[in-house]
Amino acid sequence: MDDLEEFRRRGYAAIDWIIEYRRRLEELPVRPAVDPGWVRSRLDRRLAEHPQPFETLLGDLDRTIVPASTHWQHPAFFGYFPANAGVHSLLGDLLSGGLGTQGMMWSTSPAMTELEQVLLDGFAAALGLDPGFTFAAGGGGVIQDSASSAVLAVLLAALHRTSDGAWRTSGVDGRERVYVSTETHSAVAKAVRVAGLGERALRIIDVDQQTRAMSPAALEAALRADVEAGFRPVLVCATVGTTGVGAVDPVRPIARAGRAHRAWVHVDAAWAGVAAICPEHRALLDGVESADSISTNAHKWLLTAFDASLLWVRDAAALPAALTITPEYLRNEASDAGTVVDYRDWQVPLGRRFRALKLWAVLNGVGLEGMRAHIRGHVAMAEQLAGWARDDPRFALAAPPSLALVCLRVVTGAGPVADDAATRAVLEAVNASGAALLTHATTGDRYLIRVAIGGVATEQRHVVKLWEALQAAATTVLAATPPTAS
Ligand SMILES: *Cc1c(COP(=O)(O)O)cnc(C)c1O
Repeated sequence: MDDLEEFRRRGYAAIDWIIEYRRRLEELPVRPAVDPGWVRSRLDRRLAEHPQPFETLLGDLDRTIVPASTHWQHPAFFGYFPANAGVHSLLGDLLSGGLGTQGMMWSTSPAMTELEQVLLDGFAAALGLDPGFTFAAGGGGVIQDSASSAVLAVLLAALHRTSDGAWRTSGVDGRERVYVSTETHSAVAKAVRVAGLGERALRIIDVDQQTRAMSPAALEAALRADVEAGFRPVLVCATVGTTGVGAVDPVRPIARAGRAHRAWVHVDAAWAGVAAICPEHRALLDGVESADSISTNAHKWLLTAFDASLLWVRDAAALPAALTITPEYLRNEASDAGTVVDYRDWQVPLGRRFRALKLWAVLNGVGLEGMRAHIRGHVAMAEQLAGWARDDPRFALAAPPSLALVCLRVVTGAGPVADDAATRAVLEAVNASGAALLTHATTGDRYLIRVAIGGVATEQRHVVKLWEALQAAATTVLAATPPTAS
């Protein structure tokens, strides 16, 4: 069925289309103004019975898909966290598809397995992780599809280990406890649910009101009380760079407390962890050497298209011990000999993509120095934006700036309720203009604007424009805010 010459023609046209799209991105509104159902109403309900010219598909992309897309690669996309889809990673993805291998086991693609091992060992060193996380030292890394899958996988390993294997045969017993903070990503709560522990297993630890970082003393107290009451600590999740305000939990004392009670200690550094590739940000990962696992996403801020979440564990046997099931049709000599890594045992699904190739392509295209420059550029832009906000009485920093995340609040002088309303109004005004996309969070119950800088095309001038839009919106909103205390 495959016509390779037709593929060549269509392939070049696809690359050309991507180039033109990326070139004109800046002129597009970041978020589309479409009503629900608009896209469905424009698409032909009848599926094509016969081949169509590729231009038909590209035309539909231009007329229907692009106008109804939120442009995550837009230089003025400052929402959530960045989802870098750098062009080098696109080539890696294409080559991965070209090879079309299934890397579930070493024997089904030795190259996929071993390239992934080499890259994960290399990135462990580049991030300054303890050598104990490398294959050479009995640990190892794996590329998961997402940080959510990574935490689910380590939760399963933790259930196995902390039950001395009983979980594998008998399942959960209702005594399991998992420790997070009020700021921990919901992926952990989801993993707890998926693993069948029930929400009762989740212990939510208080954070410091100022820094929003988990309180090690509160964690220690909860662990102790639970153990005394007959519960079993399974997993403690520390976060380096929380999703709300980029807070950094004190990993070392958290890990100490977790280990003292035999819990698995996981560090979720999904967004911020990659910054440790810069020596000046290494301290972010202080204490991770005493954790059992750490994950960070190359697909947020490291130029690599979704999906590529890097997960390291200190014990290479831990995930397979929990997850290996070998039906006869998967048996092979290499696995039986125990001399190879079978990544199917490090994740929930059996099949797996050649994700390492896109990371390799990014290294090939920009090198570690290019990655560092990418991170440093955004951190500098964030520092500048934070400085402008500090100097403007209409704004306040809602949290200390964290790497390239700046959290802002509008100051009305009329109290917190009015401030929250004004902050929300400013965010909505900037988003409605289409000039930038911002999202919000709450800390405690205060509303704040998150400015997450980090796009592959974001330059200083885009941050300048954003600041101008924020100032203009604040002027309008404050003029409409009564100066009475609320
Ligand atoms: C983004 C994020 C996640 C979820 O990442 P996915 O890869 O989309 O699952 C988890 N934790 C933190 C701290 C995050 O910032």
